[in-house]
Amino acid sequence: MNALTATAPAEKLLPYQSRRTFAIISHPDAGKTTLTEKLLASSGAIQQAGQVRHRANQRATRSDWMEIERQRGISITSSVMTFEHLGLTFNLLDTPGHSDFSEDTYRTLTAVDAAIMVIDVAKGIEAQTLKLFEVCRLRDIPIITFANKVDREGKDPVEILDEIASTLALDVSPVVWPLGGGVDFKGIVDITAGVVKRPNGEVWKTFTNVEDLARDNEFAMDPVIMASLENLELARAGFPAFDHEIYLAGHLTPVIFGSALKSVSVPEMLAALGAWAPEPRPQPAEPKPIEPNDPKVSGFVFKVQANMDANHRDRIAFVRLSSGTFKRGMRLKNVRTGKDMAVSNPMFFFGHDRELAEEAVAGDIVGIPNHGALSVGDTLTEGASIKVTGIPNFAPEIIRRVRLTDPMKAKQLAKALSDLAEEGVAQIFRRMVGADYIVGVVGQLQLEVLQSRINSEYNVPISFESINFELARWIVSEDKAELARFISTNKLEMAEDKYGDPVYLAQSTWWLGRAERDYPKVQFLTTKERH
Ligand code: GDP
Repeated sequence: MNALTATAPAEKLLPYQSRRTFAIISHPDAGKTTLTEKLLASSGAIQQAGQVRHRANQRATRSDWMEIERQRGISITSSVMTFEHLGLTFNLLDTPGHSDFSEDTYRTLTAVDAAIMVIDVAKGIEAQTLKLFEVCRLRDIPIITFANKVDREGKDPVEILDEIASTLALDVSPVVWPLGGGVDFKGIVDITAGVVKRPNGEVWKTFTNVEDLARDNEFAMDPVIMASLENLELARAGFPAFDHEIYLAGHLTPVIFGSALKSVSVPEMLAALGAWAPEPRPQPAEPKPIEPNDPKVSGFVFKVQANMDANHRDRIAFVRLSSGTFKRGMRLKNVRTGKDMAVSNPMFFFGHDRELAEEAVAGDIVGIPNHGALSVGDTLTEGASIKVTGIPNFAPEIIRRVRLTDPMKAKQLAKALSDLAEEGVAQIFRRMVGADYIVGVVGQLQLEVLQSRINSEYNVPISFESINFELARWIVSEDKAELARFISTNKLEMAEDKYGDPVYLAQSTWWLGRAERDYPKVQFLTTKERH
């Protein structure tokens, strides 16, 4: 099958069927930013590759926390990039790459239908890739692998395929194969399209059967190419052929070898995404999944970002539409609060630019400016009481008490903590006894970001103090009396999260174990679904 011609003409599709909403997962430095730039450039969305980074740097000068991001060379913010190509609308949800921000990243993955996994051919599967892959697997998100940096010395391609297959317990299928590598990189074989290209993207040969390439006179003269073609034969014998159904079920990943930096295999990546990645899928929800062709509008908030623009002090809720055709000015109900809101200024994101969204369908992401009415996990509908499920909160791994240096600023602190908790920068807990604020994060860097943002955006200097707790667990029980008994006996260790749900703070795993033994009817949860 030719990836390019496999794309159905856009006019035969319902609008939502032309949406491809995806994320790129990778370990820092594998080449995600570079690939993002090149995909945008290849689609024609931006003329000048480098714009993504360029823009990001401009923004980075705006506030202190962006400064942290710049200094450490990591990407904390996540944004949405929409581009059009071959009659399809691609929504790329950028995920922060640093492990400290995995919580935010995980939630972003609840809003995509497909993913690209970028790996560095010299390094193979790295820790962060593995973690993110596991999240994709939970939702059976189909993944196309981009094995990047073939222009540099790397592992043997067959070894890379073996590593993906064994580490991820996933079927792999080579679809774009490198000829040579490093300084000896000679081109690529697009197996599904029947095309061999030179490193500069020029078509070099076309073929019907990949086996025939080894008989090509020009190739026969080149030992590097012949070795790669032999390797390709081994790979084709040892790994399954690409199967679209199995890919869609999340059990097989097609692998494209390329170089984001040198734009090698980038058009192939884009074509594969357009041809193979699924249209918007049904959204898990209660009482039943939301079908994307349901005419009534529904969607959910997967991310909230406050103060995106320091000049406007705005707060944007990123909403992934699950069904219906949303129109600007529509009234939508927040199912959690029961309140209606008129959505008069919804936004679309092109690159890092925003523009007013007039109309959006399932798969699209709209940004809704608000003053705190929308939180991560909220479901928005035209009135129906549906609740999107599967958007988790994770138990924090570092717990600290917030110390306010200026007691006059208690009110601003409450506001700042509430805003940033909604964004998912940190989780905020209030002790049941005393008035302390406790913050919970999954990584040290998150604390630095929190402190720096509260200082620069709210003008409230704070510090963090160690506290006698190591673990936090949400507690639930069918037996309400038992739950109440647990809470009253352990008052000093109890806190409430932002939504008023009880959280048990344990001094150590020993204490947690004891509580679990003493209260077998109480569940101690490490993740909580929102609301
Ligand atoms: P990210 O952290 O995953 O977003 O990675 P970047 O896109 O920022 O890339 C990390 C580094 O690898 C940068 O110095 C890139 O220039 C470099 N890089 C990315 N793709 C390639 C490639 O295909 N070949 C080579 N040689 N370097 C690359």
